[in-house]
Amino acid sequence: MKPARLPVRSSGWAVDGIRYAGGEAIRMRTKGSAWIMPKQSGIRLAKRLDEVGFSDIVQIRNKVMELRAAGKQVHALHGGEPYFETPEPIKYAAVKALVENYTHYAPSSGVLPLREALVKKLAAKNKIKVSTDEVIVTVGGSQGLYGAFQSVLDPGDDALVFAPYWTPIRDLVTGTQARPLLVPTITARRNGIRKTLEQFSTPNTRAIYYNTPQNPSGLVFTRAEAEEVAAFAKERDMIVIADEAYEDLVYEGEHVSIASLPGMLERTITCYTFSKTYGMTGWRAGYAVAKEPFMTALRKIVLYSTNGVTTFVQQAMIDALKIPEAEIAAHREEYRKRRDLIVAALNEVGFKCEPPAGAFYAFPNAEKIHKNSRTAAQILLEKAHVATIPGSVFGAQGEGHLRFGYAISVKEIEACAEALRKFKG
Ligand code: PMP
Repeated sequence: MKPARLPVRSSGWAVDGIRYAGGEAIRMRTKGSAWIMPKQSGIRLAKRLDEVGFSDIVQIRNKVMELRAAGKQVHALHGGEPYFETPEPIKYAAVKALVENYTHYAPSSGVLPLREALVKKLAAKNKIKVSTDEVIVTVGGSQGLYGAFQSVLDPGDDALVFAPYWTPIRDLVTGTQARPLLVPTITARRNGIRKTLEQFSTPNTRAIYYNTPQNPSGLVFTRAEAEEVAAFAKERDMIVIADEAYEDLVYEGEHVSIASLPGMLERTITCYTFSKTYGMTGWRAGYAVAKEPFMTALRKIVLYSTNGVTTFVQQAMIDALKIPEAEIAAHREEYRKRRDLIVAALNEVGFKCEPPAGAFYAFPNAEKIHKNSRTAAQILLEKAHVATIPGSVFGAQGEGHLRFGYAISVKEIEACAEALRKFKG
């Protein structure tokens, strides 16, 4: 019997004329036809990684380093790290914890005093009322999100994702062998959130990824919009994965935690991080909030992936939560100043840029440089030495835009503005 004929896939790698793709060994024939071999190669990756990409942003970082190594000054607006260092009391808390031998295993879901402090913070700031069993400490917001998607999506499921989206989200969805359904946020805002979600969902849709303030657009969903997402999720019996990484960076309007809305706590997994609020990106400190059955799943994922967050980091997290709100607000005002500077500079050189309501990114249309955002970013980097992120890495809905991260010093923003003016020349 003749084996089935397969189209030759573009991905995969070839050795000795045999092409390995998606776990199947395919013998290459001349004239482009291919045959499935009956035997699978033992040296191959799990299929669930087939559709998972690796951050494009790394390539831009490499190009920046290359230019710098060649002695060029590069204005670094491609990043997403707070402009300030981790506050001293947090650093000292970690050192003290080390000296006091907080160097042993801790409970994998987080030490109780930290979870108690998180419960208080959630009630006060997010209006989310939970017990200590409904909070889990995670390795940054990233592990919470990874755990959330792994906990609820099966192969063949669909998940609605507001787009443009933070790049890893697509990979977190495809890593479960589910399919991301990209919902254009601008269209949804214009035509009605509920109607648009309805339009984009399928009978297999089980979850909605909801990020506010949003990376890369800086958009902040209003309370009315959060209520629409909530009403839709309840009506269709869907799970919401809420990403509130930038909860403390809202300049206009208010931050509404979707889990605080009536009937939403039991269907929402909310992921938080210490990275942005406390300048703790490298500490890998975060947490997630959910009811059962989600919490049992999250506990398993954390246990078997990292067995918890570094013990002395957890001690420092307790002290981070003691940082007064006034200090967080002062940082927010610093960011607002930077936002206004970069937005003014962008408009001055002819990008049309509305001030974003939250996070620390401006996301103007850049088609006047080039229609293709990758080419636009490359031109801006090579000609003006301004490093940005092409909008297309955040999904097709981001095409035509560039992301300018303004969590840098005022001096650096001014230097970037000058470079943009010269570029426009
Ligand atoms: N969500 C969004 C939208 C983000 O932009 C980031 C970081 N850039 C994260 C989650 C996760 O951050 P971390 O893993 O550092 O906590």
